[in-house]
Amino acid sequence: MIEVRNLKKSFGDNVVLRDISAEIQNQEVLVVIGPSGSGKSTFLRCLNLLEQPDSGSILIEGKSIMDPMNKINEIRMELGMVFQRFHLFPHMKVIDNIMLAPVQVRKWPEDKARKKALELLDKVGLADKANALPDSLSGGQAQRVAIARALAMEPKIMLFDEPTSALDPEMVGEVLAVMKQLAKEGMTMVVVTHEMGFAREVGDRVMFMEQGVIVEEGKPEQIFENAKQERTKSFLSKVL
Ligand code: ATP
Ligand code: MG
Repeated sequence: MIEVRNLKKSFGDNVVLRDISAEIQNQEVLVVIGPSGSGKSTFLRCLNLLEQPDSGSILIEGKSIMDPMNKINEIRMELGMVFQRFHLFPHMKVIDNIMLAPVQVRKWPEDKARKKALELLDKVGLADKANALPDSLSGGQAQRVAIARALAMEPKIMLFDEPTSALDPEMVGEVLAVMKQLAKEGMTMVVVTHEMGFAREVGDRVMFMEQGVIVEEGKPEQIFENAKQERTKSFLSKVL
């Protein structure tokens, strides 16, 4: 479980997160939506300390991630992150991209890491691409490799920041299918996306952010069909 309390973050004078409190239950899929610049990425990045919050607290399984006594690398191992751009190492084969962190950070023996990587490639439908270089992959394939790479660390929580927005439309579905499968298996997920179909079908809860605040949250049906706040309705009327 993730508990976020009174999270605040500014960049200079720009107040990006104004006072965010949220809970994410184990095995829950939380979908975060909102206009550009509303703070969605900053919120996600605070969850694994890619950004340092100014104040507030973030507890993961009851442990404060900001407490200097808790080692940041151990906390980060619990959270896998997938970005809009895949950030694969271009000079390394797909399999080596996936094995890198388990071997270097988790200190797994190579054969264990390789076995896990091959299982994950199979899971994302790319068993035949183990020895390919990232440049030879389509965007959808590269993103599925990025998901496999994040899963290789056996995270308890997966964070996705617009994982399909850099993809050609025909490749969106294959990435969402992998995410949907992951959700079905019970992975705890926080997903920033503009894919409202996915939000509706896979999300347990949808959170609408604007200007650094959570305007409204609820079950997908409630948000999409019966939003309470005008700002939510207005946003949805533009994207649905
Ligand atoms: P988008 O939908 O475009 O991805 P977002 O909701 O993810 O938007 P953020 O990326 O969190 O929004 O950005 C919120 C605000 O914080 C923006 O005004 C942005 O310019 C600013 N910002 C984000 N990261 C930084 C940074 N590292 N340094 C300075 N300003 C930043
Ligand atoms: Mg963003």
